[in-house]
Amino acid sequence: AEARLPSGKTLATCDFAAVPTLSKAHVMALAAGTEWLERGVNLLMFGPPGSGKSHACAGLGQALVENGYRVLFTRTSELVQRLQLARQAMQLEQAIAKLDRFDLLILDDFSYVARDQAETSVLFELIAARYERKSLLITANQPFGEWGRLFPSPAMTVAAIDRLVHHATIFEMNVESYRRRSAASRKAVK
Ligand code: ADP
Repeated sequence: AEARLPSGKTLATCDFAAVPTLSKAHVMALAAGTEWLERGVNLLMFGPPGSGKSHACAGLGQALVENGYRVLFTRTSELVQRLQLARQAMQLEQAIAKLDRFDLLILDDFSYVARDQAETSVLFELIAARYERKSLLITANQPFGEWGRLFPSPAMTVAAIDRLVHHATIFEMNVESYRRRSAASRKAVK
């Protein structure tokens, strides 16, 4: 199975000093895989755009692949679109079951799911199906506050969040955009 990880984003090129709340030792321990993946523990990574969420999770995914785990990296909106097509073809259950072959499903940009995409509950079905069995790594700009629009009803939002956080490690990457900072430091050198 192809992991579809973004190229060049590895843990080796991840500047941990730039994100004080992201412990290198912790991430390296997670990269060894084993226990947390076997228990279906989730990772939630929150931080503003450019704070390095995609880079960190792609690097972690890459390391896990090298350690023999099966990982799929996808933008959440793309996966939602695929699952919605499967639902229209009455194949949602099979499509979600097929994703079981991945020890870790990385859903990047969870909060960017379009408003009209939330009309069906495929994301909830996926979360419920993997609960306590298979891990998810979710990156998002906001922790939970805006998630109401991702699900068809408030009850479903609460149920989804409940399952996600029950066995989860949460990383808050509260740093300024890495892009903006590196642009600023280039200017300072001149
Ligand atoms: P986010 O997913 O939070 O929007 P990205 O991971 O896409 O942020 O980071 C934006 C850019 O800055 C990318 O090119 C990424 O490789 C780089 N970057 C961000 N944080 C780091 C970091 N800690 N170390 C190395 N590069 C980083």
